[in-house]
Amino acid sequence: MSTKIPSQDQTPQVTELYSKRNKIQPRSIKGRFEVLRKLGAYGFLALFAGVAWINWDGRQGLLFDLPHRRFYLFGLTIWPQDLVLLSWFLIIAAFALFAVTVFAGRIWCGYTCPQTVWTKIFLEIERWTEGERNARMRMDKAQLDWNKIWRRGLKHLGWLGVSLLTGIVFVGYFAPIRELLPALWHGTANSSEWTWIGIFTIATYLNAGWMREQICMYACPYGRFQSVMFDRDTLIISYDHARGEPRGARKRDADHKEQALGDCIDCKLCVQVCPTGIDIRDGLQLACIACAACIDACDHVMEQMGYAPGLVRYTSENALEHGQHTHILRPRLIGYSLAIIAMIGLMTYSLVTRPLVGLDVIRDRNALYRENSDGDIENSYILNVMNKSQKPERIDLSFSHMPQGTHMEGEQSIVLQPGEMRSVTETLEENPDEIHENEVHMDFHARLEEDPKTDIDSPSRFFAPYQHRN
Ligand code: SF4
Ligand code: SF4
Repeated sequence: MSTKIPSQDQTPQVTELYSKRNKIQPRSIKGRFEVLRKLGAYGFLALFAGVAWINWDGRQGLLFDLPHRRFYLFGLTIWPQDLVLLSWFLIIAAFALFAVTVFAGRIWCGYTCPQTVWTKIFLEIERWTEGERNARMRMDKAQLDWNKIWRRGLKHLGWLGVSLLTGIVFVGYFAPIRELLPALWHGTANSSEWTWIGIFTIATYLNAGWMREQICMYACPYGRFQSVMFDRDTLIISYDHARGEPRGARKRDADHKEQALGDCIDCKLCVQVCPTGIDIRDGLQLACIACAACIDACDHVMEQMGYAPGLVRYTSENALEHGQHTHILRPRLIGYSLAIIAMIGLMTYSLVTRPLVGLDVIRDRNALYRENSDGDIENSYILNVMNKSQKPERIDLSFSHMPQGTHMEGEQSIVLQPGEMRSVTETLEENPDEIHENEVHMDFHARLEEDPKTDIDSPSRFFAPYQHRN
């Protein structure tokens, strides 16, 4: 029997599902988009660290007061019952992100995403302590010596310092920062404050120091689905293939047209500055966070070569492939914009018309009804009343849709502090001769004494013995 010799190697090929991360050491670059990146990053940081210190009406302007279950947004106090407002806010933010993505791609990722901002700060610290790209790459390969130890040590101390400050400011949005800092200083902060500061310190240190572009490439959901929102007119950062190819090295004063070369000198500067380590010349990629560092790098090269800038530039698929103008006003963008305007209108309406009084009625579960010593029928209720306004208020309590002559035993009016909730027991009494049903659907009411328009009602039922029906 003859044995066939396979014409090709039949050894099964093993593909690794996990590929080891190659450490990226991005080179720094100056340029107009670097200025914008700095503005975006430092503007975001200033907002993050500064807003916590703004006071409003004698308290922190922006504060998630979880122990008292309320959220202060400057002049507004949002209660758990107002959760619908938070839903509106999140839906509007999502639509705004969709609209921006349709218009300008991943501009959020490149300029203001916290992952980009903190990675940028950490990179700056790395440059101060270990030097520019080449020095850092040499240090990666170098033996452990005193120079490496102190530089690396200083870098990690700097990273940990920034991470700790980030954790403290973040927790300062949940525990008033003016009280939190002295408490931390004197060691009197509570255990949950220490725990959350620790968690955010570690998370910031790992995300911005060690994981960096891995978060954008593998963990960020927005990065995964953003490409489905792109259309042919979305602004993307792209390499002009027609102009750049064939790429190749040449002397600065050489006539590259004569050498049948395109404008790309294949210097790879655009790759060296890329924080995710990709080559923009390979086309639009999932890993591209649209930071525009490659535009700055390539424009710099073009300037040195005496070529026109823009070999790598913001453009659209339509403009790049067909030489067409980028259409700004297009149906999807108009649709998103109209939806955002409509939702902002609805949210504003809900905000302006939201009740300043909260009322929740619970019937006494021990007895459907009682007959008192005067022969009247009694039903008892617990009214949970809340003052949702910003100042102390007198709140009037009443009822409606009960037969004539019904009497309410209990407090008819209470004073509540801002945000205070109190449970009030009320009893309704009615002469049996006036009752013609065994169950009456009625309402309780609460309203600010000063403003009758704030009236809010909550439905309940009044029960009476069956023999009184007729
Ligand atoms: S390819 Fe260019 S725009 Fe994209 S991440 Fe890299 S440097 Fe930034
Ligand atoms: S920086 Fe410009 S010229 Fe240099 S490799 Fe990149 S695209 Fe080509």
